[in-house]
Amino acid sequence: MKKQLLKYANIEVPRYTSYPTAVQFHSAIDESQYRQWLGALSASEPVSLYVHIPFCEKMCWYCGCHTNVVNGYDRISAYVDDLLHEIELISKAGSGAIGPVTHLHFGGGSPSMLKPEDFDAIVAKLKANFSFAPNAEIAVEIDPRTVDQAKAERYAAIGVNRVSLGVQDFNEHVQLKINRIQPPEQVRQVKSWLQDAGIAAVNFDLIYGLPGQSLDDIAKSIEIALSMQPDRFAVFGYAHVPWFKKHQEMIKQEDLPDTQLRLAQADLVAELLVAAGYIRIGFDHYAKADDPLGQAMRQNRVRRNFQGYTDDNCDVLIGFGASSISALPDGYVQNDPHMGKWRQAVRAGNLPIVRGLALSDDDKFRGQAIMQILSLGFLDLAAHCQAAGRELAEFDDALAKLAPLEQDGLVKLDDNTVRVTAEGIRFSRNIAACFDVHWQRQENRHSLAV
Ligand code: SF4
Repeated sequence: MKKQLLKYANIEVPRYTSYPTAVQFHSAIDESQYRQWLGALSASEPVSLYVHIPFCEKMCWYCGCHTNVVNGYDRISAYVDDLLHEIELISKAGSGAIGPVTHLHFGGGSPSMLKPEDFDAIVAKLKANFSFAPNAEIAVEIDPRTVDQAKAERYAAIGVNRVSLGVQDFNEHVQLKINRIQPPEQVRQVKSWLQDAGIAAVNFDLIYGLPGQSLDDIAKSIEIALSMQPDRFAVFGYAHVPWFKKHQEMIKQEDLPDTQLRLAQADLVAELLVAAGYIRIGFDHYAKADDPLGQAMRQNRVRRNFQGYTDDNCDVLIGFGASSISALPDGYVQNDPHMGKWRQAVRAGNLPIVRGLALSDDDKFRGQAIMQILSLGFLDLAAHCQAAGRELAEFDDALAKLAPLEQDGLVKLDDNTVRVTAEGIRFSRNIAACFDVHWQRQENRHSLAV
């Protein structure tokens, strides 16, 4: 690792699951704007649906999600009732012409906390209110500690065809420090139940930068994970933000790997997974060559959405549940993250929107550039400007910001094309930030670049 690159790893930059990022959302965008955007959708426009289930059995100390720890099932039951109501409200909010659904994703929290009959009821309600494409992907994020064989079989029967298993790290001493004990055999068992039931596509989520985690721990976790042969990996860097997520105070600062070790961990993950035959997708995903995401990468079709890298090509994402974000061609809206207020709005028959953002032409122009650089690692600036009817000079600001990154070997600029180098992939977010006119270097807003 060249020492001069450490400064890039230490900068807080957005993850760019949207552009502009959620930091720019404001309360002037409300329910009426959302209804207008929904009404403008055409019936032939493919859409993705996202359902947020904000419940977990136990709090993992590293967690950065919108979730709540619950003991019994009453709160979950009540939430499902309101969710079913929200699905109806949204399906009727537009001109009645939303569809076809090509992707449905359950995230959280732990969607696997849902009883199978509740999961079934949500999918049935969505299918009754939206038209699903025959080969629609139905994906669920799963906490392996909450799934047994019967639940795995029910998922398959309901039509789930992709799952992401939250793995994080397989070493017990790291698991103890993050309050998530989950032996490798438990993950192996759940994966085989899912596959025996007919759910062939399995992703693993791993995390580096965890307390007490060494390079040997990373190597061991990857070795165990590879023995289970998942189709995809998403490997995130732990974001330590205890001022924002109070429970992270349970993680001692002195147990955390320093920047140099985090970088070495990220590099080791990439080295081991690429050596095992996985295709690198952007800065934090890996997929087998025959997996749809791997194929999309080879065909330059990978995109980014709120779940990270995807082969989903929809321009419309409709979110359900507290805190969920919806993306439409002209802007973003976010549901109230406060569960009580979200529920109140839904019960009153309102769409529970608290903030959002209308996209300007410049936001769309720059957003497409940022997403392409992050997803494909290159951007033909001249072609991009020409397609948008703009002058190349509009990127002068970005090129000026990119100059030091080019000097440090993170990008190459040839014939007006920006190319992320092999050295630069892990700093893709820093490169993308050069095109972001909203981002200002500031502490405690975003996670570290690596
Ligand atoms: S299971 Fe996931 S969402 Fe739930 S506390 Fe752990 S990290 Fe957070």
